[in-house]
Amino acid sequence: MNQRELFFQHLAQTSASPLALEIVRAEGMYLYDASGKSYLDLIGGISVCNTGHRHPEVLEAIRRQTEMYLHILVYGEMLQSPQIEYAKQLADLLPANLQSVYFTNSGAEAVEGAMKLAKRVTGRTQFAAFNHSYHGSTQGALSILGDEYWRNAFRPLLPDILHLEYNNFEQLEEITERTAAVIVETVQAENGVIKPSFASVNRQPSTVNQNFLQALRQRCNTTQTLLILDEVQVGFGRTGTLWGFAQYGIVPDILLLGKALGGGLPLGAFIASKELMDQLTDKPVLGHITTFGGHPLSCAAGLASMRVLLKENLTGAVAEKEKTFQRLLIHPAIRSLRTAGLLIAVEFESFEKNKQVIDYCIQQGLLTDWFLFASNCLRIAPPLIISEREIEKACSIILDAINALVDG
Ligand code: PMP
Repeated sequence: MNQRELFFQHLAQTSASPLALEIVRAEGMYLYDASGKSYLDLIGGISVCNTGHRHPEVLEAIRRQTEMYLHILVYGEMLQSPQIEYAKQLADLLPANLQSVYFTNSGAEAVEGAMKLAKRVTGRTQFAAFNHSYHGSTQGALSILGDEYWRNAFRPLLPDILHLEYNNFEQLEEITERTAAVIVETVQAENGVIKPSFASVNRQPSTVNQNFLQALRQRCNTTQTLLILDEVQVGFGRTGTLWGFAQYGIVPDILLLGKALGGGLPLGAFIASKELMDQLTDKPVLGHITTFGGHPLSCAAGLASMRVLLKENLTGAVAEKEKTFQRLLIHPAIRSLRTAGLLIAVEFESFEKNKQVIDYCIQQGLLTDWFLFASNCLRIAPPLIISEREIEKACSIILDAINALVDG
């Protein structure tokens, strides 16, 4: 059997139609398949490879760590310098209430840990989340995921979940003193890049203009509900600031990170104040435990990647690159272009048209896909190192694809 046949025979499949390209090498902005064909990577492993594939400084940090130790003991027992240094670096870059980092294996595990922490801290059981939000595939994260199609087959899930409409200011009143926490994406990614909207809100004695996250923060303050921001996809510079929430004038009680956090290795985190986090150590002791969470290789790679991000000011260049995409991606077949830095949804009339464009792009050596809850939108979430020339090349292939197929 060849690799393709073995893949279908022995690897559990997640859909009936995987991409099934055989990539043998990746470097910077490019992936290379077994035939030597190159693919300009427009999705970065789904918002993971923010400093590009196999950045030399990330590889060097991994190599150095392999010479020290790999796994030594479950998370939380030993002083492991990659974890300590990375946690300190994150704390230095975060507001004063986000200073205690719990490293996990994945984004979903960060969601699970944060939900448990919120229950433990508040003594409440209800969670509020938003329609068309994605938070992971484990059962707690699935319970708050905002789409019944994906939830239904796996019921019973967690009880007492309130699903609200994102950007619906009135519905925030449904968050009450019963609600332990609200979990929200700073920018809804899998919904096809939906940002917080603004509204005039009547706050005696006057009316103020607030964005949705500010109104949500205010409601959480009123009901003493914790605000959990999921920045698994939009953290680490993607939207043009290191953390997405910096653009919306709020600070969460718990921040969730993942994807790019590990510099290409698996790593997630939930981050809160020390006061909150300490409650996971007591009643019960070991309130959340994980064998591999914060693996030393992942932390070494993640820290190196963060240092590259800061040193090369990749975040600072995001806005200009976003503008180039906005300037070039104009076509009657593009219904809208929704951007949050280098997280961009190119909206077409239907999934079928989008799929045709995507297939053409891949054929032409440009890797992209669609969004889970917005299948008519083409995904642009490249490594942040993408150059202006590469943006021009990517946009020209997308426009060729539209001209060849959508209008044809
Ligand atoms: N939250 C968001 C916003 C995500 O996009 C994802 C993954 N797509 C997750 C959580 C879950 O992360 P993981 O796949 O690492 O469990």
